[in-house]
Formats: sequence, structure tokens, C-alpha cells
Amino acid sequence: MKFVYDFTEGNKDLKDLLGGKGANLAEMTNLGLPVPPGFTITTEACKVYLDSGEEPAALRDEVGAHLAALEKKMGKKLGQADDPLLVSVRSGAKFSMPGMMDTVLNIGLSDKSVQGLAKQAGDDRFAWDSYRRLIQMFGKTVLGVDGELFEDALEKAKQAKKVAVDTDLDAAELKKLVTRFKKIVKSEAGRDFPQDPREQMDLAIHAVFDSWNTERAKLYRRQERIPGDLGTAVNVCSMVFGNLGPDSGTGVAFTRDPASGQQGVYGDYLQNAQGEDVVAGIRNTVPLADLEQLDKKSYDQLMQIMETLETHYKDLCDIEFTIERGQLWMLQTRVGKRTAGAAFRIATQLVDQGLIDEAEALQRVNGAQLAQLMFPRFDEDAKVEQLGRGIAASPGAAVGKAVFDSYTAIKWSRSGEKVILIRRETNPDDLDGMIAAEGILTSRGGKTSHAAVVARGMGKTCVCGAEDLEVDTKRRRLTVNGHVVEEGDVVSIDGSTGKVYLGEVPVVPSPVVEYFEGRMHAGADDADELVKAVHRIMAYADRVRRLRVRANADNAEDALRARRFGAQGIGLCRTEHMFLGERREMVEHLILADTDEERENALKELLPLQKRDFVELFEAMDGLPVTVRLLDPPLHEFLPDITELSVRVALAESRKDANENDLRLLQAVHRLHEQNPMLGLRGVRLGLVIPGLFTMQVRAIAEAAAERKNAKGDPRAEIMIPLVGTVQELEIVREEAEQVIADVERATGVNLKLSLGTMIELPRAALTAGQIAEAAEFFSFGTNDLTQTVWGFSRDDVEASFFTAYLEKGIFGVSPFETIDKDGVGKLVRDAVAAGRATRPDLKLGVCGEHGGDPESVHFFHEVGLDYVSCSPFRIPVARLEAGRAAS
Ligand code: ADP
Ligand code: MG
Ligand code: MG
Repeated sequence: MKFVYDFTEGNKDLKDLLGGKGANLAEMTNLGLPVPPGFTITTEACKVYLDSGEEPAALRDEVGAHLAALEKKMGKKLGQADDPLLVSVRSGAKFSMPGMMDTVLNIGLSDKSVQGLAKQAGDDRFAWDSYRRLIQMFGKTVLGVDGELFEDALEKAKQAKKVAVDTDLDAAELKKLVTRFKKIVKSEAGRDFPQDPREQMDLAIHAVFDSWNTERAKLYRRQERIPGDLGTAVNVCSMVFGNLGPDSGTGVAFTRDPASGQQGVYGDYLQNAQGEDVVAGIRNTVPLADLEQLDKKSYDQLMQIMETLETHYKDLCDIEFTIERGQLWMLQTRVGKRTAGAAFRIATQLVDQGLIDEAEALQRVNGAQLAQLMFPRFDEDAKVEQLGRGIAASPGAAVGKAVFDSYTAIKWSRSGEKVILIRRETNPDDLDGMIAAEGILTSRGGKTSHAAVVARGMGKTCVCGAEDLEVDTKRRRLTVNGHVVEEGDVVSIDGSTGKVYLGEVPVVPSPVVEYFEGRMHAGADDADELVKAVHRIMAYADRVRRLRVRANADNAEDALRARRFGAQGIGLCRTEHMFLGERREMVEHLILADTDEERENALKELLPLQKRDFVELFEAMDGLPVTVRLLDPPLHEFLPDITELSVRVALAESRKDANENDLRLLQAVHRLHEQNPMLGLRGVRLGLVIPGLFTMQVRAIAEAAAERKNAKGDPRAEIMIPLVGTVQELEIVREEAEQVIADVERATGVNLKLSLGTMIELPRAALTAGQIAEAAEFFSFGTNDLTQTVWGFSRDDVEASFFTAYLEKGIFGVSPFETIDKDGVGKLVRDAVAAGRATRPDLKLGVCGEHGGDPESVHFFHEVGLDYVSCSPFRIPVARLEAGRAAS
């Protein structure tokens, strides 16, 4: 097996073998761009090293041969005393990964060759600067010495000289620093800094291999579901020097603006600097455009190269480059990250430039980006005072009064105040406060902290880990850069950027939502560029997708919005929402009924109200299917809280004026009380034990449909029975329903063509789907309950209690309630689809859980062959887009 590839031997498609950096260095080399020569050690070599603890036997010689070839090409040997070849050793896995080893520059320098380098360059200062950088980087990343010790020593040297920046240290001072650094290495690492150049190189290569298994890298991989056995490649690249004086420097650039997608000159440049200086913020960089004045020739060449790269990669690229005494060198490129808005704009720009086609454009954007573009945002033109910045954990723009504990959050929000809950970090006790708050701000924790996970689950704006903020919950205030924010002061937080502001920043609706709502037209001359781009990409997605997209909506208003957003029907109308408010009392009557007559009266009261709801809904969705789910939740949800009612009755009894109705209610509450209501009397079980309940609902649906037909409408109702576990349950309910429908058809003279189907939301239903399909014309997978019952997770409890720990330990990268668990829950869905269709080939199949609007899950549902997904109205554009991406 070949373990080492010269840059001239690889290409951009070999990322598995050469890592991202190595593959792209090879690609640039082959494009004829100025890349310093070098070679890449493959991920295969890394795997052998990690498995056996030793490098593959052939590697040493192979590296030796490539090094010899490199030395020949460069006309000097690694570390050669009078004129040393120097190299950098750079890690580079397939996916760029935090926790991997930092690059070591200037390998090959030693006490001897530093003199040679000085002579060759005619610059002592440069040589000693390079040497001290090598010892510093090598000491820290290869030998594991605390980096601060070097930084402190550098700081002291600057203070002694009373200078502010490292470029003001002269050769003599840098030489002293080298001595100091070597002492640090000796005392901290217990060994001398290696003087043998090949030993330096080999140690650095092994350190890159080893960095694959640092705790941080492992955690990152578990969370991102990157396989743990990919290994990293190592790039050995001959050095070019940006620290050779004012006609040298180093920079980063983008081929277009990663924030807006606009073409132009974007980047930063730093004169007389090496490596990470430009991003480390140790000196002030200049905008890339200024390079034109500093070095016109290099600037023009860079512009030319950027164009070449864009045309070649057909995408925005980011670039790292160095200029050595007027000669430009390319050190890295890759397809660059971008904001959500830029992703849409760049995709359509590239179509217009003829670089990509529409199908490719669709792959260049995703639903998560679209969702981000739909959140309201802070007015960009507003004058703002930024307090700090944390991690953008859950998008949105939230404004409210600062509160520092959950109790106050709840109290204030009850009295109508908007609040932002500010904590150092949150824990399950903060849950009610988080619900009450507009947004959540913490000073600790990352994207998988409790605050972040729970806020995302609730769709609430959250900024976490804003480490500059000092949160003092005892004194109810936070301090940041001398500012003090007291309880009650207004703050604004932006969950899409992580920025935190003092005061109220005005919020504007997203233009993308204005567009979906029909209030902004993509065709208008003054239409926002972003809206135009979104419009074009959505049109394409709609053209190619196979999955239909329906909405979960319970009333006409939501249904109409869903239609505007592109819904092709309602996949889930929950009827329990129709029993709340003033109708709750009628439900009480139903529950408390002692005789058949009382019960029938209660149902009679409810019937016309239900019917009216359905008439409105069918009218709003005229011509489109509407799946109505019969009553699902446990009945006690419609009754007063057991504790509250007990107290009320006890108090009344002590006053001897207990009210008859309350006593009966309390009895009923006790009778209906369940330890595990989610596994208790609900769904089809209600229909089976409460005579007349489901038939009343079916009658309301049938009569509403008949009324719409008589009004020349086109109602397309589908009646859905929840929580079925066995076909017998369904058969009983179905028979009763068919009788009622026949009744209504006879009475109205209208042929209704209602279809009857079921939710598949219990493991047993999925496992016996073949039998259930005999009595069902459609299945709708209720993946929320299915996830609960398959995992044995109580959805209402686990997210706030132990999911943070699960995410941190990498047990899963994302909550199975957010993205469908393909291996477990997904397997049941897949098998049930096959079994259902085997029984009934024209069985209609959909999904109505939260997963219906989750990008990754939508792809899964496309793949297993569902007919539609159903999601909340706001997620519809996301589902349409992802369905298109899945199909193209
Ligand atoms: P990262 O993965 O963090 O981007 P790199 O391997 O790209 O690490 O190295 C960081 C920086 O070090 C580069 O952007 C470049 O400025 C500098 N660098 C790396 N190799 C060389 C080299 N051979 N010559 C000059 N500078 C280099
Ligand atoms: Mg880096
Ligand atoms: Mg880099």
C-alpha cells in the first residue's frame, strides 16, 4: 500500500485518503497554482499507527524517499546547516475538526541551521523569530508544554524592551527568547528540544496521528456522527516566509462575501507575519483591498487565482496565502462556510453564471438555513449597543427585561412583562422560567448545554456561553466591560448571531416570511435579492419533489396560513383543541354523566359546535385532503387539577358548604387519575369505552362534509383513529363510523366518500401493520408517540432531565424527538410501510409527528416511500425544500 502522496499526485476527490487540506493542496498544485511543494501522508497510515501503536513498517522509508525528492526539487536539505530546507507539518482530516493538532511551522531549524537561515536570508531577526516560533509551537503541540509559559516569556521580553508588538523585538532579544524557550521545554517536557530535523519531523507527524484521539476530537466526532475510524492525514509542506520583512506577509480571503454572497474583495492581510498571526489578532490586519497598494503584482495575481478557484470549484472558496518578498504562495483552499442568506444568493448567482445547474443549486442550500431566514430579526439599521457575544444556540430575536431567576421570570411574565432569563447556566429547575421567558441567556456552556438543548426543543431564542458576561444571580445583575445590567433593565439577544445588546433593539419581520405570506412578491422590481433567490430555489424544489407536504392545523386560520405557505392538505387536525375554553364545561358534563340519557345530551351539545369547526376547516382547505384525528388525550386533561380541586373541596367541606358538582368532579378526577396517563385511557381506547364519543365526532365530520358539498364545495375529509395497537380495535370503531356515515348520507342524499385510517404510533401497530392495513385506508405515522414508546422515553420529562448528559456523552448527536432515530423507530416505520402496502397496495402513507418538518427526517421519509409529510405551518417551506433536495 502506498502511504505517501506528493502534492502532484493527489486531487480534490481524494479527501478520504488525503484529508480535506491535502486533497485541495494537490488540486491547486495540479491547477498550476503556486503551492509550496510537499507531500501528504495518508489516513491509511494514520489508521495503522492508531491500531498498532506503531507507524507502518514501510512509512519511514516512504517518507524518506518523498523528503529526498522534495530536497532535490528545492535544492537544499531539511535542516541543512548552511541553507536549511524548512517544512510545516499540518494535520488535515476529511472533515475539519476542532481538537486536532495545530500546525507546526519552521521544522528543520536548530541551533546550527538558524545561523544558515540568517545568512541566506540576510536577516538575523527573521531567522531567530522563526526559531522561537518553532520551539514555541513544537513545545506546545508536540511535547505538550503549557502554551502560556511561552506567551508569558514573550510578554516579559516585550515589557523589558517597552514595546507593544513582537515585530519590535530585535535579533538579540529573540535569541535570548530562544534560550528561555529551550529552558521551558527542558523543565516542562523533561527533554531537550530535538536538534535533529528528521526527529523533529517524525515527532510532529506522530503528534498529528495521536491528536485524532484527543478527548475533544472524540467528543466532536460522536456529536457530529463522524466515524471514529477515519483517521487524519498529515501534510508536510515546504515553508515560505511571510515574516521576511515589510514586502512579506500572510492573509486569508474569500472569493465572495460569505455574509451576503456579493462578489468582491473580502479578506484580511498582515504584513511581516507568519501563520496564524493574522487570525490570532495579535496585530491589526488591513483589509485585503489594501494589498493592491502594498503589492500590486501579488494582488492582481491573487485576484486571478480567486477567479480560477471559483470557476474550478464552482463555489465560494476560502483561501490562506502568504507573500514572501513579493512572491505569492497559496497555502490552503476549501469550499467556504457562509451565512444562510448568502447560501441562497450564491446558489442562484452560480446558476446565472452558468457554473451550476438548478439541481446543484438545490443541494447548495438546506432547510436549516431556510428556517433561520424565517425568524424575525433585529433591524439592521437600528443603533445598537452591543454588550457581548455568546454562542448562537437557538435562533430568533428576543427582547425583554433582564431577570436572574426563574421565580421572577414567571412572576413578571404573568403580569404581562416580557423577560429574558439570564443565568450562569440552567438546570431542570429553571424549566418554568424558561417557558415564561422570551429568550434565555447564559454565560456558560456550549451548544449541548441544558439551556441550548431545551431552548431549541421549545423553539425559544437562546444565546449561551457568553463568557464575557459576569452573571451574579445573588445580586441580580450582570457585569460586562464595565457595564452593569440590573434586574429589570431591557436587553436584546440574537439567537442567530449570539450577540447580546443593551436596550430594546427593534425587530422586523423576515422578508422571507413576508414573501411566503404573499405580502412581498419575488417578481417586483424592488424585491429583495434574497427573496428572489429563495423564490427560485423553492420553485425548483416543488418541481422535483415527490413527497407532498401537509400541515398540522386545527383551525381555519392556521389552515389558511398553511395554504399560503404551500401546504397540500392537512395531515393532522387535532380535535382536542376544539374542546377547550368554554366548551370544557360540556366535556365535564360528558365525563360526569351517570345515565345514558345524560351522556347523550352532553354529546348533543357538542355536536353542532364540532360540526361548525369542521365546516370552516373544510372550506379553508377546499379541494385538499384534511385528516381529522378523533379525540386522543386522556380525559382528565379536561378536568381541574386534582390537588387544586381537593383543596377547594376540603375548604368548602370545613365551611360545610361543599358544592354537589365539585364533589362529583372530584370523584371523577380520582376515578380518571392515572399513574401513566400517556399509556392509559386515551386514543381509540376512549372511543371504545365511552359510548357515543367517536360516533359524535364522525357525525360532525360527515355532516360538515355534506354541508360543504351542498354548498358546491369540495371537502376531502379523512378520519383518523389514534393509538391503535391491534386491528380489532380499529375494526370496531370503523364499523360504528361506517354506520354513522351511511346514516348521514341517507339523511342528506350526499355521497361523502370519506376515508378511514389510523395512526401508527405504537410499536405493536407497526409490528402488525399488515393486519391493520386490512381495516385502514391510510396510515399516518405518529412518530412522537412512536419515539416515546420505542425508546421508553417520556417526551415531557427526558429532554429537560437527562438528554443534556446523553448529548454530552455523545450517545446521540441530536434528540430522537428532533430527528428520527433511523435505526430503531425508523426501522419500524420502514417495515410497517412494506407490510401495509403488501396488504393494501394503494394504502396512503404519511407522517404527522414533529419529524415531518425536520430536514434529516424528511429525507428519510422520502427514502422509505411515504406519500407525504405533515408539519406545523411554519415548517412547511422547510419541508418542501428538503423534499425537493431528497428527490433531486
Ligand atoms: P489550520 O488547519 O488551522 O488552518 P494550517 O495547516 O492551514 O492550519 O496552518 C495554519 C497557517 O500556517 C496557514 O494558514 C499558513 O499561514 C501557515 N502555514 C502552514 N504551512 C505553511 C508553510 N509551508 N509555509 C508558510 N506558512 C504555512
Ligand atoms: Mg488553526
Ligand atoms: Mg489553514
